[in-house]
Amino acid sequence: MAEYDYLIVGGGLFGACFARVMTERGKRCFVVEKRETVGGNVATEQIEGITVHKFGAHIFHTSDKRVWEFVNRFAEFNNFINSPIANYKGKLYNLPFNMHTFYQLWGCKTPSEARAIIDAQRAAVGIKEPSNLEEKALMSVGEDVYKTLIKGYTEKQWGRDCKYLPSFIIGRVPLRFVYDNNYFNDKYQGIPLGGYTEFVKNILGDTEVLLGADYFADRDKFDKMADNVLYTGPIDRFFGYKYGALEYRSLRFETEIMDTDDYQGNAVVNYTDFETPFTRIIEHKHFDRTQASDKTVVTREYPEKFAEGGDPYYPINDAKNTELYKKYAALAKKTPNVLFGGRLAEYRYYDMDDTVAAVFEMTDLLL
Ligand SMILES: Cc1cc2nc3c(=O)[nH]c(=O)nc-3n(C[C@H](O)[C@H](O)[C@H](O)COP(=O)(O)OP(=O)(O)OC[C@H]3O[C@@H](n4cnc5c(N)ncnc54)[C@H](O)[C@@H]3O)c2cc1C
Repeated sequence: MAEYDYLIVGGGLFGACFARVMTERGKRCFVVEKRETVGGNVATEQIEGITVHKFGAHIFHTSDKRVWEFVNRFAEFNNFINSPIANYKGKLYNLPFNMHTFYQLWGCKTPSEARAIIDAQRAAVGIKEPSNLEEKALMSVGEDVYKTLIKGYTEKQWGRDCKYLPSFIIGRVPLRFVYDNNYFNDKYQGIPLGGYTEFVKNILGDTEVLLGADYFADRDKFDKMADNVLYTGPIDRFFGYKYGALEYRSLRFETEIMDTDDYQGNAVVNYTDFETPFTRIIEHKHFDRTQASDKTVVTREYPEKFAEGGDPYYPINDAKNTELYKKYAALAKKTPNVLFGGRLAEYRYYDMDDTVAAVFEMTDLLL
């Protein structure tokens, strides 16, 4: 019998929650993490007394009571409400698209005035069956919202003209005819005080973790340690890129310490014009305003092409990559004693609450 029941590859949110649930049900777990810290993409660090989100702004939001109660065991969450601002060519707009935004765009004050403008713009577009993202956005929100708040941002994010992007990328674009800048509709929302890395450490508790160790550097040794493996890294890498590499969009973060106590007065400002090379500026101290500092830390987020060895952020779930993923998923199904979980192993965008819920689903089935 091996020393552990589960070798967990990856100390991100999926791996940590899996370790916690299984340990509490009597299983012995060991985590191997290639980075020097746990947390994966939700990791935070302390700079100038401010909690900095290292890999993009992370706001926990969910309507799932089981998930919310679980995460609250490992951190105290504050009452942060995400209310991003859009900056289009120097003019500011509230997000998500709501009565504040419509007032800023057109000066209209009532829902019926706003609806009339949007309906007229939709009708003028005259598209019934969208064949690309631009058409879908135009028929959902009309020209002004699309051109001011969607087009430039989306083109920077995906590195392509919206006319050449598939329509499924944006899904349904919600319009709110009330004055409400709360970005998320979920029942629960907040940021863990002390940062996500501490939160993930608390989830892991006493689980043994080996940091700075790549599973593939010593795969045989690691495999022998446990009866089963939970793998949360990229699925194509697990199979030696046998069918080719899955594609992602990547991001580059430029973080700067500034000699001012407040730079932009808000946690998230999106730059929605095409000319500004970054998509957003995050000012980290606004996620937790109890952190007093006479400095501030801001991060500019630049979308980038994903190159081998780079950081995978957003899966490109187009037809080509979906087919490729299906081939890897079929191999995964046939691989005994290995489970595949999380955003990289399942090649899908998972919010944090979906990640925790997916762990529950997997562990409920196992136990
Ligand atoms: C820019 C951005 C912003 C986001 N913002 C939000 C938000 O506001 N709210 C929200 O709910 N969600 C957000 N998310 C989603 C959130 O980041 C994910 O839900 C979460 O990170 C998924 O955790 P995971 O464990 O599946 O993956 P990861 O965090 O990627 O963890 C995988 C871990 O495995 C390790 N690993 C990989 N390969 C190996 C190997 N060979 N050996 C050892 N270790 C390995 C990695 O180093 C990593 O630590 C955002 C995502 C992005 C990209």
